[in-house]
Amino acid sequence: MSETLTIALSKGRIFKETMPLLAHAGIVPVDDPDTSRKLILDTNQDDVKLVIIRATDVPTYVQYGAADIGVAGKDVLLEHGGEGLYEPLDLEIAKCRLMTAGPVGMPEPQGRLRIATKFVNCARRYYAEQGKQVEVIKLYGSMELAPLVGLADRIIDVVDTGNTLKANGLEPLEHIADISSRLVVNKAAMKMKSARVKALIAQIEEAVKNK
Ligand code: AMP
Repeated sequence: MSETLTIALSKGRIFKETMPLLAHAGIVPVDDPDTSRKLILDTNQDDVKLVIIRATDVPTYVQYGAADIGVAGKDVLLEHGGEGLYEPLDLEIAKCRLMTAGPVGMPEPQGRLRIATKFVNCARRYYAEQGKQVEVIKLYGSMELAPLVGLADRIIDVVDTGNTLKANGLEPLEHIADISSRLVVNKAAMKMKSARVKALIAQIEEAVKNK
């Protein structure tokens, strides 16, 4: 009997950009997550399943072995910490930058900066490295609003074109990290399902190189 492989993915950009890479490895989902309400998708291979979850939950599912493999943004992995995971491959998709941003032309205020972000661990780590005392305010979305209504001096968010910042009178300031989606593998699965997992990584790696 062949062993089952479970791959964790989020809907949207990551799903769309990962599909051609999985197809190169011979894996094609039977259902479309945009039209199906199923959270576990069958694929053309009986022993490969896709689980469709929130992007921020992907590292957790893979860490605990509920999925053997996952695709997650480096921003999400930096925030999670990467415990229990291997990160063998940069898929070079969904690229953007993790940055600080603030109101256009506003000099850094004196005293303790207030930072609004959903990346609270990244924020604490970044400012600790800078030797700056900051207050980090956790938000779950629309970070751009925080400086406009006096909730924070700065935000930390992922930036692609910068249009969202610009539309809200903000500008990107410091670059924290380059972001792209990564393949992550549960540490136990890498050992227990070694041949299967390594073959899949090799096929996906080839697809990334040929893009
Ligand atoms: P932008 O192109 O800078 O206006 O990006 C618009 C918004 O899309 C940003 O505020 C982010 O929340 C989100 N975004 C852009 N690129 C990515 C990405 N690669 N991964 C996750 N979110 C992204």
